[in-house]
Amino acid sequence: MYDLVVVGAGPAGGATAIVARRLGLKVLVIDRFKPPREKPCGGGLTPRTWKMLDRMGIEYYWYGECKEVRVKVADIRYTHRGEPIRVTRRPEFDKALLEQSGAEFVVDKVLGVEGNKVVGERGIYEGSIIVGADGANSAVAKSLGEPPPGPKTHAIAFMSIAEGDLGDMCLIDFDFAHEETGGVGYAWAFTLGDKGVDVGIGVGWGPWRDLKEALAKWAESLGLKIGPVMGHPLSLGSLRTLGRRNVLLAGEAAGFVDASTGEGIYYAIATGALAAQAAYVALKVRGNPGEATAVYKELARPYVEEIKRSRMISRLLGAFGYNKRFARLVGPSLVRLYKMLTSGEATYSPLLIKPKMLR
Ligand SMILES: Cc1cc2nc3c(=O)[nH]c(=O)nc-3n(C[C@H](O)[C@H](O)[C@H](O)COP(=O)(O)OP(=O)(O)OC[C@H]3O[C@@H](n4cnc5c(N)ncnc54)[C@H](O)[C@@H]3O)c2cc1C
Repeated sequence: MYDLVVVGAGPAGGATAIVARRLGLKVLVIDRFKPPREKPCGGGLTPRTWKMLDRMGIEYYWYGECKEVRVKVADIRYTHRGEPIRVTRRPEFDKALLEQSGAEFVVDKVLGVEGNKVVGERGIYEGSIIVGADGANSAVAKSLGEPPPGPKTHAIAFMSIAEGDLGDMCLIDFDFAHEETGGVGYAWAFTLGDKGVDVGIGVGWGPWRDLKEALAKWAESLGLKIGPVMGHPLSLGSLRTLGRRNVLLAGEAAGFVDASTGEGIYYAIATGALAAQAAYVALKVRGNPGEATAVYKELARPYVEEIKRSRMISRLLGAFGYNKRFARLVGPSLVRLYKMLTSGEATYSPLLIKPKMLR
């Protein structure tokens, strides 16, 4: 019997395991794949993400630094220079987190959760507390009655590691994604230094043309030679439940992704760390694993509020973002806002009055 069974060895599961082990808990991590495994991702670690990792004393890999970010929307081009976005490869990044945790690890595909049992294809694993950190298609969330990814809650994103060199530059192009697919989203190219370029395209689920074709065209337009293409759903800031009694959801399993930027690694690490703390409090302080969800909800409240606000902003941008007059009017302020958000200097919170307060 473990204190904590963590399902998923992505950034949320890795952070949960690291913090829980530091707090002295007996931890088992289960993933369907043995690390290093691929996870379709841009690999962009915003400054707030790498600062958080540094402050938490978590070591990680990154290969390229976007010192200059060029954004194109509604035919307007913005260039942002400041603290760099570090670009990682998820196989190595996630493996490093799992290894640092020192947690026990097994490879198994989890089918669901029953009470304090995690049911896998190969075995049953018992934990006083269970953390579902198994991403967008979370089997643990499904056990808690949450729906799978769908058009209203998730976008689709495709990526590839391309051969070529972008120097220290990264590109984010909303117009390309819109013109090629008719959907709302963006194409990106993030430098991986001498390991090539992470290229991708992500848009809202809909009747768009083949995104793989669009991605190939995007890479070609940049003079890059595309590699194998991988796709994955991406939460549009659609929060699921945070848990029930002794079963918690962290990271994208709970829907923690900024809806307007697609940034998920920051929230995965933050909420994974909080889930571990909630588990510790419920188990070792309150002596009642069933209180874990209540503690976690309290700790994660600021992140829940942020995600809700990102969703409101994203809807606004989806409706008006491609309008040239709108883009000209608010574009420079938005670029400043995102610079502050992603560097950790600001949050969405002061920007919007809580809908509740208007009632
Ligand atoms: C194409 C794309 C590009 C993105 N780019 C960025 C970016 O540049 N920067 C950023 O911050 N975010 C980005 N995101 C979002 C980010 O990748 C996710 O939000 C983040 O990976 C979530 O971390 P997680 O640990 O919650 O889940 P995941 O990283 O999805 O990890 C879940 C883990 O659970 C395992 N698992 C799943 N189901 C089971 C099961 N049934 N049994 C056992 N194990 C299971 C998986 O194998 C995986 O290891 C991108 C997403 C996509 C799709």
